[in-house]
Amino acid sequence: MRRANKAVCVFCGARDGARDSYRAGAQAVGAMLARQGWRLVFGAGDVGLMGEVARAAHGAGAETFGVIPAHLVGKERPSAQLGTRVVTETMHERKKVMFMNSDAIVVLPGGAGSLDEFFEVLTWRQLGLHDKPILLLNIDGYWNPLAALIDTVVAEGFADDSLRGYFTRVDDVAALDAALRAALG
Ligand code: AMP
Repeated sequence: MRRANKAVCVFCGARDGARDSYRAGAQAVGAMLARQGWRLVFGAGDVGLMGEVARAAHGAGAETFGVIPAHLVGKERPSAQLGTRVVTETMHERKKVMFMNSDAIVVLPGGAGSLDEFFEVLTWRQLGLHDKPILLLNIDGYWNPLAALIDTVVAEGFADDSLRGYFTRVDDVAALDAALRAALG
């Protein structure tokens, strides 16, 4: 296994979602992280897209670092095979540990949890607390309604135009790979 010098945090669904393209995309992200020698930071669970990314990354030789709150260990079934794991007391602590151990944030399709995670790092960025890249993998246009909502937020005067520049939508894993390489060197 190559020693990872950069780490990428992946937020994504604890479910598979309704389209095969979501699972395929998650697997391709895991393989891409391994190919680039980047460490995967994730929610530690072996469920949904989260499990797909982690199994693909681990299987292709990437280091993985999973962070899970104690109360979710039963539900999200962290796998002992999937690399290093940290158990936190709270959800907040989980997000903080994931964020602090990452150089970039990638958000794959997901539900309320993924949205929460996205908005947390976006608002931290808006407040100038970090300048880590935030990339939305827009599989089959999944994140277009979110980008439209943010356009509305700006148009209606609830945020500066700069908000739009704090995240980037990429349409496929090749574009994600290129954006991460540009950002992480
Ligand atoms: P979902 O996108 O709803 O499938 O959730 C994706 C992941 O986010 C799951 O591992 C959830 O446990 C996690 N999650 C949900 N809410 C939070 C939160 N407030 N802080 C940290 N993780 C969360």
